[in-house]
Amino acid sequence: MAVKEQNATGQSRDTETAGGLDFDAVIVGAGFAGLYMLHRLRSAGLKTQVFEAGDGVGGTWYWNLYPGARCDVPSMEYSYQFDPELQQEWEWTERYASQGEILKYLEHVADRYNLRPDIKFNTRVGAARYDDLSNSWIVETENGDNVKSRFFIMATGCLSVPYTPNIEGLNDFEGVVCHTGNWPKEGIDAVGKRVGVIGTGSSGIQVAPMLAEDAEHMFVFQRTPAYSVPSQNRPLDAEEQNTIKARYEEFRAEAKRNRAGIMYELGQKSALDCDKEELKREYEIRWEIGGLGFTAAFKDIFDDVDANNTAAEFVREKIRSIVRNPAVAEALTPHTLIGCKRLCVSAGYFETFNRSNVTLVDLRKEAIERITKTGIVVGGKEIPLDVIVLATGFDAITGALLRVRIHGKGGIELKQKWADGPKTYLGHSIAGFPNMFAITGPGSPSVLSNLVPSIEQDVNWIGDCIDYMNLHGHQVIEATSEAEAGWVAHVNKVANKTIYPLEDSWYVGTNIPGKPRVFLPYIGFPDYVGRCTEVADRGYTGYSLT
Ligand code: NAP
Repeated sequence: MAVKEQNATGQSRDTETAGGLDFDAVIVGAGFAGLYMLHRLRSAGLKTQVFEAGDGVGGTWYWNLYPGARCDVPSMEYSYQFDPELQQEWEWTERYASQGEILKYLEHVADRYNLRPDIKFNTRVGAARYDDLSNSWIVETENGDNVKSRFFIMATGCLSVPYTPNIEGLNDFEGVVCHTGNWPKEGIDAVGKRVGVIGTGSSGIQVAPMLAEDAEHMFVFQRTPAYSVPSQNRPLDAEEQNTIKARYEEFRAEAKRNRAGIMYELGQKSALDCDKEELKREYEIRWEIGGLGFTAAFKDIFDDVDANNTAAEFVREKIRSIVRNPAVAEALTPHTLIGCKRLCVSAGYFETFNRSNVTLVDLRKEAIERITKTGIVVGGKEIPLDVIVLATGFDAITGALLRVRIHGKGGIELKQKWADGPKTYLGHSIAGFPNMFAITGPGSPSVLSNLVPSIEQDVNWIGDCIDYMNLHGHQVIEATSEAEAGWVAHVNKVANKTIYPLEDSWYVGTNIPGKPRVFLPYIGFPDYVGRCTEVADRGYTGYSLT
């Protein structure tokens, strides 16, 4: 079949795909992962098609348009590094980039590398099936596309399936209802309105302070109080940016040596070896710096419950000192482990509760009973509302992979294979699903790392693997069941050395009713990179290649 292929400079030439295939590779999703995967495969001469449900690129940053949406990884790090020219030419304006700025960046990337012609927008993939006879994938979209491809790559993101709780009467509400993860492009007018925000995770704590500025009154419906540290966001001046750019490669390499692949200074002492003054001094410094580095103050915050409690207690004290009403402060104070459920990074979240137009509704005292046409009923009383914002999170990490009906070798369904929890080899490969990859899938560092370098790691690994297959005349690669079982055991062993799995959260799937409780990400970016590199260097151990 004659097709158009583009080289790295964006020029097209005719090329052929072998064996009656429509594409060499189909990629699902045009966020950070899908865009770079497309660029990488196309540069290697593969005829590649991306299917994207939205009408533009950006993934997470396309859908999460709620006011206050901002990344919690510094912008100088939350960006691609595959092209030194790109990273030198792009100018970030703030320490932590807003949703709008990240979306502009990704649109720039799509244009700079001429990616759009190979992305089909407004097209959701519904099903994919491995055809044992032709060793290829048949991919079906909800628009009726039915294409055959050698490789099938899920670049669907870790937090892309919004979770809407099953609250009685939600559909009866006659005002505006929207989820932070699916915010309307035209925005929501909260001026002079009575607004209810359900949920106090990272999305809720970002959106609430913004809506409070416009709303006549805002009610925050809180089930579990959240730890939040200030972002200390500020404009990035040219000098600061240029200092990093002058040694960008070194700076990136340094960040990748940290467990999360993010630049922070990990304290070398145990919190348990410090007296109260020393703890307070160090936490105060970290609080002033702002951001996720707060929980890197001491080396054992994620290894020891007592060490963790020193950091948690510092934040509890901060809440009590910020929130003027002691009863509200107490209701906002978490008593869980800090950081084992994603630490929130915010601007003025706790301060919002000092406003006269903001009320905290503590659902631990009385749960939401139901939603009516005009409001939310708690404790037998209706709170009248015009707008309900669902900041209720996502079916994380596995949600987007299982939303597509994927059938592997012999017709086995991924949903069935993962009924007791996901099983992968290296986070991106699945026994029984040949020539399929899931970028930043379960069992990879993903959400416990800086996602952009994690994505680049997976994309480069997959790209190198395909190059290797083509060079050595292999048609099919598949993880072995033994290698997969070994990886799952290793992921659990690493997690169980820490205190992360002790807390309920989306990291372990407990936010979704009925989801198996499994610790989903792999802890340790550098170790992950080392293991993936070793597998490749040894000729793809743990895989069968035919
Ligand atoms: P989340 O952390 O899962 O928080 C969901 C919130 O909704 C929780 O407070 C949860 O309460 C509440 N909730 C769920 N069902 C409820 C119900 N039926 N009734 C009352 N409350 C209910 O979700 P998220 O805030 O969207 O954040 C998810 C992740 O996305 C973050 O952890 C982060 O990794 C990422 N994110 C990052 C940023 C950033 O970079 N700054 C911003 C937004 C999101 P319970 O805790 O009691 O279940």
